[in-house]
Amino acid sequence: VRVAAGTVRALAAIGISAPGPLDHRRGVVHEAPNIPGFREVPLAEDIGRDLGRPVFVDRDTVVAAIGEARYGAARGVRDFVYVTVSTGIGGAIVTDGRILRGTSGTAGEIGHIPVDPDGPRCGCGGNGCIEAIASGANIARAYGVSDTRAVFAAARTGDARAREILRRAERALGDLAVTLVNVINPARIVVGGGVTTGEPDFVFGAMRRAISERAFAVPGHAVEVVEAALGDDVSLIGAAAMAVARAEDREPLE
Ligand SMILES: [Zn+2]
Repeated sequence: VRVAAGTVRALAAIGISAPGPLDHRRGVVHEAPNIPGFREVPLAEDIGRDLGRPVFVDRDTVVAAIGEARYGAARGVRDFVYVTVSTGIGGAIVTDGRILRGTSGTAGEIGHIPVDPDGPRCGCGGNGCIEAIASGANIARAYGVSDTRAVFAAARTGDARAREILRRAERALGDLAVTLVNVINPARIVVGGGVTTGEPDFVFGAMRRAISERAFAVPGHAVEVVEAALGDDVSLIGAAAMAVARAEDREPLE
């Protein structure tokens, strides 16, 4: 990447949205499953040394949650879950105005809730995770194609195999929604990602129906499932907000 030196010197800080799991405090990416050999990479240190500015790194879904909280569909909401249904399924949990990190910083990997012991093997090493059943890549793989849209198109023409794959994905997305509602009690579930924007009726229908049919009544009535507002710009907007806050030694949502 070539950046004019004057432009870089004018920056207070640089924010990077990276695939996890990672250590956001040190800016080290532990592992990027889709990039072979990308292990324990000190991204913040390497890029900071090259560009001479402070660099802050966070998980892509956490960065998206920060963007949606500051400027998008979760503005003013202290308890929400950001969910992306895309090639994979990921998320971030914000509870009482703070990002839930967990002891190793990996909390919020909501795509890896196991929902079917006999389900397909998942990239995480588990079996029947929500991601293994309902992510775009895995819906397409189950049907033997590379593009999720082909599966939805086949289902619309009545193809029984495509319908069965989508019925399972719908069930898994419903399980995700009910789990989040019953366990986290969020005011909002903000859903983005390519499958969501491509097939909003499918994703929102699966989640909303499951909540109304099978979640606890009190948290079920308290939650809204809404579309993410920032679209493809969510990482840019979230990374800028994250970097500004951390350069000032603040938590990004405080
Ligand atoms: Zn998994």
